[in-house]
Amino acid sequence: LKTLRLILGDQLNHQHSWYNDDQENITYVFMEMRQETDYVTHHIQKVIGFFSAMRNFAKYLKERDHEVIYFKINDPKNEQDLAKNLEKIISANDFKKFEYQLPDEYRLDEQLKEICNNLSIETEVFDTEHFFTKREDLRNFFEGKKQLIMEYFYRDMRKKHGILMTNAKDPEGGKWNFDKSNRKKWKGEPEIPHARGFRKDVSELYSEIKKAGIKTIGLVNEKSFNWPTSREDSLSVLNYFCKNFLVHFGDFQDALHTDQENLFHSRLSFSLNTKMISPGEVVNSILDYYYDHKDEIEISQVEGFIRQILGWREYMRGIYWKEMPGYKRLNKLRNQKQLPEFYWTADTKMNCMHHAINNSLENTYAHHIQRLMITGNYALLTQVHPDEVDKWYLGIYMDAIEWVEITNTRGMSQFADGGLVATKPYVSSGSYINKMSNYCQNCHYKVSKKTGDNSCPFNSLYWNFLDSKREELQGNQRMKMMFSLLDKKDSGEMEKIRERAKRIIDQPSDF
Ligand code: FAD
Ligand code: SF4
Repeated sequence: LKTLRLILGDQLNHQHSWYNDDQENITYVFMEMRQETDYVTHHIQKVIGFFSAMRNFAKYLKERDHEVIYFKINDPKNEQDLAKNLEKIISANDFKKFEYQLPDEYRLDEQLKEICNNLSIETEVFDTEHFFTKREDLRNFFEGKKQLIMEYFYRDMRKKHGILMTNAKDPEGGKWNFDKSNRKKWKGEPEIPHARGFRKDVSELYSEIKKAGIKTIGLVNEKSFNWPTSREDSLSVLNYFCKNFLVHFGDFQDALHTDQENLFHSRLSFSLNTKMISPGEVVNSILDYYYDHKDEIEISQVEGFIRQILGWREYMRGIYWKEMPGYKRLNKLRNQKQLPEFYWTADTKMNCMHHAINNSLENTYAHHIQRLMITGNYALLTQVHPDEVDKWYLGIYMDAIEWVEITNTRGMSQFADGGLVATKPYVSSGSYINKMSNYCQNCHYKVSKKTGDNSCPFNSLYWNFLDSKREELQGNQRMKMMFSLLDKKDSGEMEKIRERAKRIIDQPSDF
């Protein structure tokens, strides 16, 4: 049967069983579309990264004699819409069957179901063969449970896949979780090797994107684009991480520093989310490297990393498919404010915010703790509407695809799901930021001051947040101690806190 197979921009899985089938009568189709570039304003590097990775994969398939149709963004035949393009291609080429892989986004899943309903030819959908879990596995695992605790899911995954286990039920190293030893501040040592960089000239693609008139945010050096955009690049980032960063990954997982954009983080998320590499091969490479270098690398470093891939990443995907489409509308804390303008400029006197936003604008990257405890923390403390926060996170990061962005942002970071993903809101005053970073040393504000003109904004915002969200949060056992500290503050101090917080929230451009 003459068959058309669709490959979406985040389905660049070289190892999919599709490519082992008899290829006679099979054509693959890729499309760069305004439908995908415009559903939110993306970072310029993200658009370049996706198109470049798609083009590289299409080239790889063509070189192996696969039949490929590729619609570039400015192709006159390109209708810029998935349904319209497919309809046109199918009728022009007389395809008798249409096949696609399960999309990871709800939006595309719905759209493809509708397209298939409207097609008169045979259709079939396949698994992406990428994740450890199926869409419904997490729902089944937590069936009948009130709370969806990640740790239980993660332990089950470790057992199921025999990862870091001494036998069927005992974890290697005697503990499931080394989180407590993963909280060191980085003070200039140990030395951090520079990231595995790429200096690609993407000026041609950049011009095409400009010509198409796609609205973007952020900056790019088009002569020196720095992201992996092929499987080869991605494997090289993975190997580089094993050799250079794994040894200290766990220790400094939560650290922040003015001079370091990546610290010991892997920068693998774009390669993973586009499926250029699989979580299985990442985990296996890490374990192989660890077992070959057991004298040099502690289990806490390795477990810290495995937990992110085997635990958090799969867990977030499961939550997404369990909770969508309602998840996208949740706002349990009823936050209504707008995101301050400086999220698009980094023009703020708060040193921590300046660094986290600058990293995002310049590199379309920020490591986890910058996203969670700096920009996310500030957005929650200033009570920004989760739609606003989602839009920013979904646009600005190279790795931002809704299934993993929304669960991290609306769920983990903004507590808009009322505690499904996080057991308590990830909020802090300036003292946590000071403990984990050197940001406060050269800041315009004084981290030790609670109120008054040059006091750290995070301090008054933190107590004001608890005060104004008492109704929603007081019943949370894990917040008990914070509320009892809040209750010890006298009315005069509370008045000053509220006043200062109000100014910060109402006039963000002054800060
Ligand atoms: P590393 O620190 O080296 O971690 C290794 C890998 O583990 C990552 O590549 C990623 O695949 C996985 N991982 C780590 N933490 C998480 C997590 N919480 N959820 C899912 N996977 C995880 N990650 C995305 O991939 N896309 C997003 O859009 C995204 N948005 C986020 C928004 C917020 C508010 C927060 C707090 C986190 C977000 N994350 C997102 C999770 C995490 O911050 C990024 O995966 C990580 O920073 C990517 O950098 P890295 O590859 O250097 O990660
Ligand atoms: Fe951020 Fe406050 Fe520290 Fe300044 S003093 S860097 S605003 S935490």
